[in-house]
Amino acid sequence: MSVKVAARVRPLSQREKERSCTSCIAMDGPCTLIYDVATQRTRTFTFDYSFWSCNGFEEEDDGLLVPSESYYDDQHKVYDQIGADFFEDAWSGYHSCLMAYGQTGSGKSYSLMGYGPNQGIIPRFSQEIFQKIDETTTQDRWYEVSMSMFEIYNERIQDLLADHKSIPAWGLKVRESKKLGIYIQNLSKHSIVLSEDLLKLIEKGNNNKSIMATYMGQSSSRKHTIITLSLNQFEIIDGTTTEIYSDIKFVKMAGSERPRTSNATANWLREGRNINQSLACLGRIITILADKANGRSTNSIVPYRDSVLTRVLSNAFGGNCKTTMLFTLSPADINYEESLSTLRYANRAK
Ligand code: ADP
Repeated sequence: MSVKVAARVRPLSQREKERSCTSCIAMDGPCTLIYDVATQRTRTFTFDYSFWSCNGFEEEDDGLLVPSESYYDDQHKVYDQIGADFFEDAWSGYHSCLMAYGQTGSGKSYSLMGYGPNQGIIPRFSQEIFQKIDETTTQDRWYEVSMSMFEIYNERIQDLLADHKSIPAWGLKVRESKKLGIYIQNLSKHSIVLSEDLLKLIEKGNNNKSIMATYMGQSSSRKHTIITLSLNQFEIIDGTTTEIYSDIKFVKMAGSERPRTSNATANWLREGRNINQSLACLGRIITILADKANGRSTNSIVPYRDSVLTRVLSNAFGGNCKTTMLFTLSPADINYEESLSTLRYANRAK
């Protein structure tokens, strides 16, 4: 397994500015720095990439590195640095997985999808893949792309694109077979031929998600959402058809914030426990795999089965897989604890 780790901090939001929050995060090359006002201590984490949004604060003399000019790593730069490599890997036939992790409101959806001219990684990736397909299709070379989209809520899988009349949408089971590896039984798969098809399906999935959330009184920030593209590349070489298959996953994790216990209902607490358990389980797996990859440990037992999230992602951690983890952060000092915990989590993946 190969893992790339990136951190990205968003600008201070209007609400944070109104609450007179200051930024406690700064970036310096690949390093992310976080400043604790209480102890006046700065901690430094080094990743493959650190993407900054600094909205022009004056230099402060309280220890935090804050340049006087504004600096913003926009969607284009993020795609250029992590999306383009991700695309190359997927196109070369690697199973690829890009996960966004962070507290609610820290920029996971923005980074993955974005909006208007600020398109995120998925629409950019989609345009690139269909453009490449257009450019390289010949009589002897052709492609098939399909997509599925589901969410995990309280350890249950819900198909977000199912035709409700013919396919059960709720409580789908994770199965394992020699031929298919780990798969989700009855998950609907949709063939796509244009980049717009993919974006329309995502929109449909997101609509279904909101409808379900409203109908069942759930918050979508408490669900993991997984979009899978299956890319089949066919080529006739010396009269024989060869096939390369890659499974490309985009994962938006449930908000990583610790549940506050005040006015919590039993269901809300159960959700929180399930989210924590699956994120903790993913963290353990990442640590084991990173230790193995770096020769720090030979532990061969990887506890994929401990949560539905890690079971369905287990293919993404196998030998032939490239994984990119994007950790999103709020810069506001009031979110210091959550940001520190995100950075510590990210640090385990190195
Ligand atoms: P999450 O998916 O983690 O809950 P969002 O992606 O919805 O968070 O982001 C919360 C808000 O912050 C949105 O209004 C979004 O447009 C804005 N935002 C997030 N990241 C950035 C960024 N890098 N640059 C500008 N705005 C951002």
